[in-house]
Amino acid sequence: MTTITIAKGDGIGPEIMDATLAIILAAGAQIKIEEIEVGEKVYLSGNTSGIAPESWETIRKNKIFLKAPITTPQGGGYKSLNVTTRKFLGLYSNIRPCMSLHPFIKTKHPVMDIVIVRENEEDLYAGIEHQQTDEVVQCLKLISRPGCEKIVRYAFEYAKQQNRKKVTCFTKDNIMKQTDGLFHQVFDEIAAEYPEIENEHWIIDIGAAKMADTPEAFDVIVMPNLYGDVLSDVAAQITGSVGLAGSANIGEECAMFEAIHGSAPRRAGQNLANPSGLLQGAIMMLNHIGQTDVAEKVQNAWLKTIEDGTHTYDIFKDGISKKQVGTREFAEAVIANLGQKPSILKPVNYNKSASLNLPKYKRKPAAEKELVGVDIFVHWAGTDPNELAEKVKRMEIKGIELSMITNRGIKVWPDGFKETFCTDHWRCRFKPTEKSSIDKLNIIELLNNAVFENIDTIKTENLYAFNGKQAYSLGQGQ
Ligand code: NAD
Repeated sequence: MTTITIAKGDGIGPEIMDATLAIILAAGAQIKIEEIEVGEKVYLSGNTSGIAPESWETIRKNKIFLKAPITTPQGGGYKSLNVTTRKFLGLYSNIRPCMSLHPFIKTKHPVMDIVIVRENEEDLYAGIEHQQTDEVVQCLKLISRPGCEKIVRYAFEYAKQQNRKKVTCFTKDNIMKQTDGLFHQVFDEIAAEYPEIENEHWIIDIGAAKMADTPEAFDVIVMPNLYGDVLSDVAAQITGSVGLAGSANIGEECAMFEAIHGSAPRRAGQNLANPSGLLQGAIMMLNHIGQTDVAEKVQNAWLKTIEDGTHTYDIFKDGISKKQVGTREFAEAVIANLGQKPSILKPVNYNKSASLNLPKYKRKPAAEKELVGVDIFVHWAGTDPNELAEKVKRMEIKGIELSMITNRGIKVWPDGFKETFCTDHWRCRFKPTEKSSIDKLNIIELLNNAVFENIDTIKTENLYAFNGKQAYSLGQGQ
């Protein structure tokens, strides 16, 4: 028996939650339910996060949270409950199965059945942004080894449990050799632990194009946050059935399951809404808590119901659908189909002996880390890099020289092209001469000299070698 927290949310939320719970309980789910209130009422009572402190306690105690959609009130000050929950509870993994239900739901991709596994906490979404010059702003892309290990392992464990054959990784590591490079490297390391599952890596641009054109070539796809955010919507959309999709947000301690659609306020209270999206979330929840046999039974009964043509108004089509039903009648039809399998759609077959094995991250022994130079970024409104080099060279100290200047990553000194467009944001790389070395005090001396030379430094990045291996990018053209 697992105690779960539920929230019925707003709009159609209570109706689809009641239908979902009725189905999974009828299928034999061993769950005890504790309800909390989230959403519009809580927001409007003056709580800008949409959830009361005591409700957090319930979620953290039970660890498993099934959430119906909520209405976020219009206007300023209200924070998205989803974003808050994801960040507070460390829900690092976002799972979104995207499956076609051809010929029952119209789609250009009749045999699509993929799962997007999106890293959910880091990458460009760390929210670390700065304006540095009049013309340039930056957003820090942070990729961590624990972040990569957790998400990639999750993708393989999920594939194993769901009897899936292949895990694909999408990155842009031909350009971002450090950040996406780490994601790809960790993918290769962890893939080697799962020899029974095929693995492959695609550069994201051609991978995304292939996915949108030939989704049947993919099975599970794992990727960093930003790519996953974009491509999970593309994948859901091209199945033709966004309204039927569920999603899971998984953390080391807690997990949240939901539909991907909203609270559809105009459909509320009329026994019209389709409970399928939330039901898909609940099926992922059952798999997550190890009740795989119940999950499989519910999914096959649901597929059979769709196949029978028993459809709610949103998916009802003359010629395809047989019977238009309301929320409650749809749930009853799924319950009546428990124990049956679809005959046209592919039945699911989960691996009942494989509950997810997700060990805690173990930090590796520290590498030997050597400071080998420094990039000092400068705000300068001039246009001729040679002029800047002359100025910046006055910062040099004994044994440490200016080796390169780039503008937006492109080398402009020495030997730049006059055609290269330059902004007011320059990276000046200082490195020790052959017989010399560099330490932190040298960096302070360089910056000190900049102050006296009236050079507007805006930030520094230390250049390191880890275990003797260069751990920073070269300038483009260097
Ligand atoms: P929506 O997903 O609620 O509705 C979009 C359209 O799809 C509407 O025509 C609606 O009637 C229909 N629809 C959605 N779900 C349906 C279902 N289960 N059965 C039948 N028809 C369904 O999106 P929206 O109208 O842009 O947003 C409404 C509210 O939901 C907003 O307050 C928004 O902030 C919120 N929202 C919440 C979540 C969440 O809680 N996870 C997600 C998205 C939107």
